[in-house]
Amino acid sequence: TEELLRRSEKLSVIGQLAAAVAHEVRNPLTSIKGFTQLFEDKIEKEYTELMLSELSRIEMIINEFLTLAKPQAVNFKQENIITVLRNILSIIEAQALLNNINIQTSFHAENVLINCDQNQMKQVFLNIIKNAMEAMPTGGILSVNTQITDSCLEIGITDEGVGIPPERIQRLGEPFFSNKEKGTGLGLMVCFKILEDHDGRIDINSVEGQGTTVTIKLPLQEE
Ligand code: ADP
Ligand code: MG
Repeated sequence: TEELLRRSEKLSVIGQLAAAVAHEVRNPLTSIKGFTQLFEDKIEKEYTELMLSELSRIEMIINEFLTLAKPQAVNFKQENIITVLRNILSIIEAQALLNNINIQTSFHAENVLINCDQNQMKQVFLNIIKNAMEAMPTGGILSVNTQITDSCLEIGITDEGVGIPPERIQRLGEPFFSNKEKGTGLGLMVCFKILEDHDGRIDINSVEGQGTTVTIKLPLQEE
């Protein structure tokens, strides 16, 4: 418990710091980006392309940091989480199709009320589904299912991707822990933080070379 407490304290300090840094960095970044675009036809295209792609990378990191630390946006309400989930799946559908990924769903019910911040939960679903898709570069099946166990809603997101070796699983959620060339290593950290704020949790089970299941657990409202 003490270790968990220390971890969550660390997360909130990181969160506050992240918000401050993100706000400070955003404005100069936007202006540098603008000027770089102005130079686009004055210097070698190769250089401006490189500069713009590096700037986009910084922008991506800053944005993920901001979602980590957005206390003002939190708005807990009774939401039908299945609708929220379906919403995200429809957003992701086109990209899945392009990547040869077949989405299969199996929901135990169509109406499951959860006390949550809708936008934050969307962020969690997006980050986890994005990881699942990125784990299947040549395509495969992405299954999403729900079930109830011990007054908790469990949402399972399973891919048939590359999997994660056991020694890496423990380190998931550490900031900047990524094995992707274009990854930020912040996606799961954001998910862990959001689930912690919702009294929920995330479990990750993976078999290397076979695939991964990420299970989101959320407490159900008591009658
Ligand atoms: P990023 O996606 O930017 O690398 P994340 O925090 O989202 O950062 O994920 C951290 C790392 O966890 C990834 O780089 C990847 O190695 C691993 N990972 C997460 N989800 C999966 C998955 N479904 N299959 C395989 N590896 C995964
Ligand atoms: Mg990710």
